[in-house]
Amino acid sequence: MFETPALQISVVNLSEAGLDLTLELAADWFLRWQQDDPPPLFAGPGSLLAEVHLTKHGRDILLRGHLKGILTLACSRCLEPFSWPLTADFDLLLAPTPRPLNRTQEELTPQDLDLDFYNGDVVNLEPFLREQILLALPLKPLCADSCRGLCPHCGANLNLQTCTCRQSKAPATFAALAKLKH
Ligand SMILES: [Zn+2]
Ligand SMILES: [Zn+2]
Repeated sequence: MFETPALQISVVNLSEAGLDLTLELAADWFLRWQQDDPPPLFAGPGSLLAEVHLTKHGRDILLRGHLKGILTLACSRCLEPFSWPLTADFDLLLAPTPRPLNRTQEELTPQDLDLDFYNGDVVNLEPFLREQILLALPLKPLCADSCRGLCPHCGANLNLQTCTCRQSKAPATFAALAKLKH
């Protein structure tokens, strides 16, 4: 049994050589995420392995990572949950949070927005891992390219059953066409 991964990294203890971590993001990690802030496309917990390497560059921290595993997403056509394999690499430069002194929101420049920040002497990996997973998600997840979706009239899952909506509509269309011919 793995314990909840240690996602709080002390900056002071980071050596020049850096730090390598392998984190198991299992069902309990996903459940905590869904309680905090439910990601819209998740239909259940996933199981990911995150390999993370942190190195110190002055006061900045370079966070390199590799994510691999399975997510449970909801199909955008039929709404059924399905397993989606995820593989993603990322490189983030984390700077210490700018001092609030003499700074207002309006003074933030575009460069500031491209940087990620950490606060105080601890880097919490949790928000960065969540962000990278969200960035890797497909815009319209599909259980299969051939997914037939739900019937817009009766809501039947057309992968599992046929409904009579289409058949009962077809004769009406033919009748309308026949009228046009006259
Ligand atoms: Zn589907
Ligand atoms: Zn139908």
